[in-house]
Amino acid sequence: MTDKIDGKAFAAQLCERLAQEVAALKAERGVTPCIAVVLVGEDPASQVYVRNKIARCAEVGIESREHRLTADTSQEALLELLATLNGDNTVHGILVQLPLPAQIDETAVIDAISPAKDVDGFHLQNAGALAVNQRRMVPCTPLGSLMLLEDRLGDLSGLHAVVVGRSNIVGKPMAQLLLGANCTVTIAHSRTRDLAAVCRQADILVAAVGRPRMIQGDWIKPGATVIDVGINRIEEDGKKRLVGDVDYAAAQGVAAAITPVPGGVGPMTIACLLHNTVTAAKNAMPA
Ligand code: NDP
Repeated sequence: MTDKIDGKAFAAQLCERLAQEVAALKAERGVTPCIAVVLVGEDPASQVYVRNKIARCAEVGIESREHRLTADTSQEALLELLATLNGDNTVHGILVQLPLPAQIDETAVIDAISPAKDVDGFHLQNAGALAVNQRRMVPCTPLGSLMLLEDRLGDLSGLHAVVVGRSNIVGKPMAQLLLGANCTVTIAHSRTRDLAAVCRQADILVAAVGRPRMIQGDWIKPGATVIDVGINRIEEDGKKRLVGDVDYAAAQGVAAAITPVPGGVGPMTIACLLHNTVTAAKNAMPA
C-alpha cells in the first residue's frame, strides 16, 4: 500500500495559517504584504503561472502588483523597473517570472533584485546563505518539498536522500536543505552512472529532472518516500496530460508514499512563495 502525499491539502492548510498572519499584520501593524510580479513577453505557460500566483495571493490577503512588459523589452528597461521596485518600501517581494526573452540575461536580472525582496530565493546572497546552512529566502519548490517530507517522516536525520537533478532552482537547494536536516545526500544528474542503482539506495528519493516517468518502479527502494517535482506535459491516448518524472503507477506497492502530479509539489511551490512574501514583509518592519 502506497500513501499519496497530498500536497494540495497541505498547501491549503499553510495558506490558511498565512491568511491569519496577514490579517494580524494588517490589524496590528497596518502593513499589507505586497508582491510585485513581473512578466516579460507572452509565454503561455508563464501567463498561467502568474495568473495562479496572483489568485493565491488574493486568497490570503497579500497585495500583488502585476507588471506586464512586452517581449521586446530591453534588459536596461527591466533593470530600471527592478531598481524602482527595490526602492519602493510598500513592495516586500519581487518575482520575475522565468524564462525571460533571449535578449535579457537572467543572471543579471536575478542579481538586480534586492536579496531581502527575492521571494524566489535565487539571488546569489540567498543561495550562498543556504550553502552555509543559513536560511534566508529559500527557493519555494525545495522548501515546499522539505515541508512535505518533515510532515510525513518527522526527523530526517541519518536517512539517505537521493536528489536526481542539480539545477540551481530545485536540485541543488533541495540537496542543501536535506543536508541541513542531517540526511546523507547523494546528488545525481545526467552523467551519473547506473542511476537506477543509485536511486535504489534512497530512503528519500526526490526527482527533479523534467523527463516524463523516467524513474521506474524497480528504481525505488521498498518503503522509500518519493517526492516527484517533475511537471511534464505529454499527449497520451489522444489526451493532454500532466505527468511527473516518476512512473506513478509503477511506484504503487513499492514506495511507502509518493507525491502525485498534479496535486503534490506544485501547490506547495505557490504556498511557499506566499510564505516567503509574508516573511519578507515581517523582516522589513521595524522591531
Ligand atoms: P533543469 O532542466 O534545470 O534541470 C534538470 C536536471 O535533471 C539537470 O540537473 C539534469 O542534469 C538532470 N537530468 C536531465 N536528464 C537526466 C537523466 N536522463 N538522468 C539523470 N538526470 C538527468 O530542470 P529544473 O530543475 O528547473 O526542473 C526539473 C523538473 O521540475 C521539471 O519537470 C520542471 O518542470 C519541474 N519543476 C516543477 C516545479 C513545481 O512547482 N512542481 C517548480 C520547478 C520545476 P545535468 O545537470 O547533468 O544536465
